[in-house]
Amino acid sequence: MGQFPIARTTAPKQKPADDQLTFGKAMTDHMFLMNYEEGKGWHNPRIEPYGPLTLDPATSVLHYGQAIFDGLKAFRGDDGQIRLFRAQRHAERFNRSAQLMCMPELPVDIIRQSFDALVGVDADWVPRKAGTSLYLRPTIIATDVMLGVHPAHSLLYFLILSPVGSYYKEGVKPVRILASDKHVRAVKGGTGEAKTAANYAQSLSGQVDAAAAGYTQVLYLDGVHRKYLDEVGTMNIMLRIGDEVITPPLAGTILDGVTRASTLQLMRDWGLRVSERAITIDEVMEAGRNGSLKEMWGTGTAAVVSPVGTLGYKGEDILINNGETGELTQRLYDAIVGIQYGRTNDPHNWTTIV
Ligand code: PMP
Repeated sequence: MGQFPIARTTAPKQKPADDQLTFGKAMTDHMFLMNYEEGKGWHNPRIEPYGPLTLDPATSVLHYGQAIFDGLKAFRGDDGQIRLFRAQRHAERFNRSAQLMCMPELPVDIIRQSFDALVGVDADWVPRKAGTSLYLRPTIIATDVMLGVHPAHSLLYFLILSPVGSYYKEGVKPVRILASDKHVRAVKGGTGEAKTAANYAQSLSGQVDAAAAGYTQVLYLDGVHRKYLDEVGTMNIMLRIGDEVITPPLAGTILDGVTRASTLQLMRDWGLRVSERAITIDEVMEAGRNGSLKEMWGTGTAAVVSPVGTLGYKGEDILINNGETGELTQRLYDAIVGIQYGRTNDPHNWTTIV
């Protein structure tokens, strides 16, 4: 596809100060766009000034939610270089989401070129303060103007960028999570494996209920037996019982998290005993009661790891590691962050320089 046409903004925005950054509020000056039409394929890749999209009210994504996205980050290292973390794996997952949501494949090398090109154009927006990063949000929406329910014949790919602050401004902090016997995130055969808009819309009521009960996030149990752990909020879940690290398997209901894959790889590199296996909430609660549950944490791009200090289920609260960040959780955080900022070597070549 080669070079992309670039229309540069004539009105650059004021960049927020690095210490004022939150998550996902500020957007950079440019965006990447590309169209798909049946018969024509993906075409017209271009970079334009960031701005609103104009959509007919009958555009199918607005009604039936045929939309996918992904989320990854670019980091400005101590050496000044900008690194993308696991761009290839994110691009592959984006395509997997497309396939699951009946969208045509967008070649991985074009997705990656769009990441590099747009981050290159908005390179000045990659913040400098420790812990900050530039979040990339690739998205595809169905743009057919037509109210019938059908797989779209026309789509829009867009990529936008947002400078984000450190998730942990005062160090890694444990959260309270609630295993829900009411809310279900996904079932096998459904959309749980896809990063699709509807999964997030349907997660809101669980999130609201958990917050009302005094917890930060929902720990979802499987939708069939209502006992196996699935995921927590928008993170994958891991725990350590004795010397075994356990995480639910990729069996069709959870997202194939890039941080999940990365932390699993590191723990295997370190020679730890790691199991991708189904585990019930009863087993976890019992391990919590008898003291063998040593650590529990979520994994995701936003926070890297999020330690669980308290696990609630059916009115009982289990305090994990005295409500403090566990040793392995902290080690994983330090290892991933070290690679992302180019402070340590990158044995699996996860980062690519923009
Ligand atoms: N599960 C869900 C539902 C998510 O939205 C995310 C965030 N993308 C994750 C898990 C973690 O995935 P990753 O490590 O790739 O960010």
